[in-house]
Amino acid sequence: MAEINTAHIQIVLVEPHNAGNIGAAARALYNMGLEHLALVGWHETVEARRIAFEWATDGEPVLKRARRCATLEEALAGCGLAIATSARRGEDRPPAISRTDLIALLNHWTPSNQVAIVFGPERTGLRTEHLALCTHTMTIPTAPGKASLNLAQAVLLVGYEILIASGLAAAAAQPADIRALDRVATRAERRRLYEHASEALRAVNFLRPGRPDRPLDEICWMLDRAAATSHEVRILHGMCRKILRAVRKNRNGEQ
Ligand code: SAH
Repeated sequence: MAEINTAHIQIVLVEPHNAGNIGAAARALYNMGLEHLALVGWHETVEARRIAFEWATDGEPVLKRARRCATLEEALAGCGLAIATSARRGEDRPPAISRTDLIALLNHWTPSNQVAIVFGPERTGLRTEHLALCTHTMTIPTAPGKASLNLAQAVLLVGYEILIASGLAAAAAQPADIRALDRVATRAERRRLYEHASEALRAVNFLRPGRPDRPLDEICWMLDRAAATSHEVRILHGMCRKILRAVRKNRNGEQ
């Protein structure tokens, strides 16, 4: 499957009313690794700019570079697909897609196409004439009956889905030096633990002579399921050592 090209994703805010939301949306895009914002029909007064930039903080460059468009048609001109986001579902709208469908579409189309994701005005949401320009609609899941999200938060949630799906988050979260603690125990380490545990568990009669080692097999399968690390296996060796030492001490005391 192709990779999502986030540089080909356009986030479009149609007639945003609240300047704080515009700034917060720009910040959300910055945090989620998206860069292209288009503002359709924003009344950009001096005061509105001041508020928007105050809310944008680190997202300031995204807001500065945002395309100012007079109409949605103008904003979507270069896009192959346009996905309308809406808190409401309804008939006579472009086909509804789920968030997993969204990711599949972005994977498929963004390598060679510009794809817009369109958000509506705070009070009314997208109107019929806006929906008519879009190819799909998408609703972000919410608690039943509580569908209407804050505009900037809706932008953040969509950005987050894209970030997670595009693997940017995984790359960022990957520590440069994977700690030795995190290495999954090798099969040889696992076998040595088996032998050591077998000795310790026999010493306390958990495993009995002449009986199968099935319980120990099961414990080791559990460790396999958990992908036990070398570090964790060493802790279990330490436990076995203490058991054997205690048993020996006990025996010596009894003699
Ligand atoms: N009262 C409006 C809500 C507008 S909220 C309505 O019912 O549609 C402003 C914008 O945020 C919406 O136009 C949409 O783009 C986005 N939004 C809010 N809640 C959403 C949801 N649950 N799913 C998808 N988009 C949502």
